Amino acid sequence: MQDIARMIRGFRHFRRNYFSNDARLFERLKEGQNPRTLVIGCCDSRVDPALLTESAPGDLFVIRNVANLVPPYDHDTGFHGVSSGIEYAVKALEVRDIVVLGHSGCGGIAALLDHAMLEQTEYLRPWLSIAQPALNAVREELQHKPRELQCRAGEEAALLVSLENLLSFPWIRERVEAGQLTVHGWYFDLHRGELLAFDPEQREFVHLA
Ligand SMILES: [Zn+2]
Repeated sequence: MQDIARMIRGFRHFRRNYFSNDARLFERLKEGQNPRTLVIGCCDSRVDPALLTESAPGDLFVIRNVANLVPPYDHDTGFHGVSSGIEYAVKALEVRDIVVLGHSGCGGIAALLDHAMLEQTEYLRPWLSIAQPALNAVREELQHKPRELQCRAGEEAALLVSLENLLSFPWIRERVEAGQLTVHGWYFDLHRGELLAFDPEQREFVHLA
């Protein structure tokens, strides 16, 4: 209950500060949202996209899921929470940029590397299997390397799978090819406090900040 009480106190503080300091912003937001960026991030409590980028309410349309994965374009009968969020952002909100935000120390990716923990799960295993082939390749290639290196390579490889999967949605590919939409792969190294981006020309992650 202590945590809940802290959250309520936090909201009171938020309301006092935000609503009185930036009344114009909230007047505008009452009318509706017009974010220009979709961020697909991890559920991890340490990696809040709005906090990390000092974005204001209304700036980012955010989808968070375990290991910041994008599933491939698919027409099965499952409940496509992530894909429906992407569809809304792209078709209805017409965002200009999509950022897939990976991070260091990702529990989802570590679980995929280990397997053991996933054995008893109902939903995590099939969800994380999106990145399984890429992770298998990493495990094979780096089997004699330190664990830390394997995790880092796994996090990066999974991020690239998500970027590829984004382009498997025909209405994303169309917009990217028409220059109306740009897709970015970002990686937040929370151990070093660094932000990197995947450079498709160099095929590697380069420092943004
Ligand atoms: Zn994560």
